[in-house]
Amino acid sequence: MDKIKEILNNSKSIVITTHKSPDGDAIGSSLALYHFLKKKGKEVSVIVPDAFPEFLKWMDGSSTIIHYDTNSEEAEKMITAADLIFSLDYNGLGRIGNLSNPLKDASAIKIVIDHHQDPQEFADHYIVDVECCSTSQLIYELIENLGELEKLDKVIGACIYCGIMTDTGSFRFPSTTSKTHQIIAHLIEIGVEGSKIHQDVYDNYSEQRLRLLGYALTEKMKVFPMHNAAYISLSQKELKKFSFKKGDTEGLVNYLLSINGIKFAVLLTEKEDNISLSFRSKDDFHVNKIANHHFNGGGHIYAAGGMLETTLEEAIKKVEAVIKQSN
Ligand code: 5GP
Ligand code: MN
Repeated sequence: MDKIKEILNNSKSIVITTHKSPDGDAIGSSLALYHFLKKKGKEVSVIVPDAFPEFLKWMDGSSTIIHYDTNSEEAEKMITAADLIFSLDYNGLGRIGNLSNPLKDASAIKIVIDHHQDPQEFADHYIVDVECCSTSQLIYELIENLGELEKLDKVIGACIYCGIMTDTGSFRFPSTTSKTHQIIAHLIEIGVEGSKIHQDVYDNYSEQRLRLLGYALTEKMKVFPMHNAAYISLSQKELKKFSFKKGDTEGLVNYLLSINGIKFAVLLTEKEDNISLSFRSKDDFHVNKIANHHFNGGGHIYAAGGMLETTLEEAIKKVEAVIKQSN
């Protein structure tokens, strides 16, 4: 912490980066740190590799976020000028797409704050806790350990609340600890409106998104009771039929785990030039190794992701084979 304090004191221009397809924890932790550092008088910008869902845009500062895919010139200027770069909620350069190029070349000091396993060596300092439910909780703990909790206001608190809420499945995954609840209690005490944040994130579906959920569950869900597994696959054509927008399939894979006996859940989505896979599990079934061994990915023990450069049909075959051999 002394080292981090010293680095912060010596930095003027700071860039915060997070992973591709940013989720609630990625945006929440980035904006919480952004507001905190602004309060400390720093020049700060948040750079993300690509777009993030509409339901995260209520967060203060979200409109200032620079998207690398559509605004690479400005992003590169910021990165070159920065004396400190934070990498939040990702454990390797493979998670940030082309944003890894300017980041690799940057002369700034680099600090990773993350809760994923096996961080790769690309930074100078690491604040990593794989037991922690979210990077947003790590930001709270950072502010706490710096002895600056008095700077934590409603705006910062709302971003942290959102990140913890989304990464813990609304405070129910096993990563939710008493410390998590203590942090949430403190946030509520300073005026963060938990139920409003819940509504902004979860009661913000388009009609088409809810219909896509219904279609996926009734028409596309395949259950393998003998293997305690289930999957849903969605093609580009199907997604287009429901006017798919980024974030519309967020959380869909979790529904599969609500079936009695199902411990292993997979969502396959056909992207423009690959198949994206999302894995969830519970109890003694761990998905990070499966994602890593078979699907070019990784993640946490109960939530992981991967990617295949095949057709959707081939990807489905592979998933079925893995389901049949793994449980
Ligand atoms: P999601 O299914 O929500 O996209 O991802 C679930 C979890 O797995 C997230 O914590 C995410 O960081 C991680 N994850 C997703 N895709 C990948 C990947 O390709 N590589 C690694 N290492 N982790 C991933
Ligand atoms: Mn996270």
